[in-house]
Amino acid sequence: MKGVPRRQWSGQLKGEERAGSAVVKSDRTGRGGDSEAGGEWKVMEASDLKVETAVVRLHLILGNVMKAAELESEMKVAELGYVRRRGGRSDWKEKRRRSRARRWRCVWQFTSKSIMAVKNFNLCLCIFLFLVALPLYSYANPSKPKAEKPSPFEFIKHLEGCHKGEKVEGLQQLKAYLEKFGYLNYNHSQNQNHANDDDFDDLLEAAIKTYQLNYHLKATGTLDTKTVSNMMKPRCGNADIINGTNWMRGGKKRPNQAHNTFNTVSHFTLYPGKPKWLSNQLTYAFLPGTNSDAQSAVARAFDKWAAQTHFTFSRSQDLGSANLTIGFGRLDHGDGIQNAFDGPWGTVAHAFRPRDGRFHYDADESWSVGAVPNAIDYETVALHEIGHLLGLDHSSVQEAIMYKDAPVGVTKGLHGDDIQGIKALYNIA
Ligand SMILES: [Zn+2]
Ligand SMILES: [Zn+2]
Repeated sequence: MKGVPRRQWSGQLKGEERAGSAVVKSDRTGRGGDSEAGGEWKVMEASDLKVETAVVRLHLILGNVMKAAELESEMKVAELGYVRRRGGRSDWKEKRRRSRARRWRCVWQFTSKSIMAVKNFNLCLCIFLFLVALPLYSYANPSKPKAEKPSPFEFIKHLEGCHKGEKVEGLQQLKAYLEKFGYLNYNHSQNQNHANDDDFDDLLEAAIKTYQLNYHLKATGTLDTKTVSNMMKPRCGNADIINGTNWMRGGKKRPNQAHNTFNTVSHFTLYPGKPKWLSNQLTYAFLPGTNSDAQSAVARAFDKWAAQTHFTFSRSQDLGSANLTIGFGRLDHGDGIQNAFDGPWGTVAHAFRPRDGRFHYDADESWSVGAVPNAIDYETVALHEIGHLLGLDHSSVQEAIMYKDAPVGVTKGLHGDDIQGIKALYNIA
């Protein structure tokens, strides 16, 4: 390396600084440019270069482009130092040409690695935002549409056409469904062992007939198309029949519970024992987390019931002392496993009879304010559940608010059958 003109190396160093766009640290490389012998230049071993390369890659992954550029520049200058020690005076022009080529290669590598680093950084950023933002969005919108999920009542579709004497997979689920809504109770039967099998027995046929009578369907006792379609609709989680006594008797003449006369119009149902509120002035409070849309809809529903009854409903901030409490629940939410919700569709809300006062929306449903396709209106369901809170059970009149279905994509209001029911219970003239 002796005899190499000093000015040539100075030029090389300046070029190196420009190419790398980084300051060359003088204690490792630059100082050597002042010495003709080049003894101060540090020789870079192959293993050192590998380590440095790994560090550069690590920095690129982390998106630290500037740091990578700096290290890259240092490596190249160090390589030049290595060449300088081995070369001689005679071939310094060739060395300069090679070093320039190396410099441009360095620029090219740096540029392409920078582009790769930016791309990697953008990809990582997108993945990060997706993973972080998605759960936050779900949390902030607990009742956003999940309509694409199958209904928990979907299994009934596969039972269409089934009748007594058959053994079909899924009938056990149907028995649980009918038991939940009050149509079946194997505990009081000789056939208790059939509660958990897929046998279509006498008890199941009788339960289906009762269901068909309550909802104005032909009482065939088989799972015909209309019966299956009716059973699959999203509905209130409250049972139609309490303690085995069926008061609905849809489509049949029966005594009017208010005036003890026969009529064929009113099909409202009261709870066994006719539980009711003793005070006309009721207070209600919302559970924490109840959104403002639901709160407003419930307030409007109370106003509609108040307009038809002797009740006044006033909002309270005290959950402990309020007569009625309203909020959201998801799956098993503390009302007992028999009152657990079931995810999207299926049962969408429930409320307890007087003087319990609990009314819960299923947080997994797609809720709306007003009629929105594939969503259920807050106010329509509130009108129905307030009916339960006041002492009404399900009606067999499809237009009545106390009909068991939760209308999807449409709204409903109070019906003459509902008004008759509440007036009968509270002896309102
Ligand atoms: Zn109901
Ligand atoms: Zn509940």
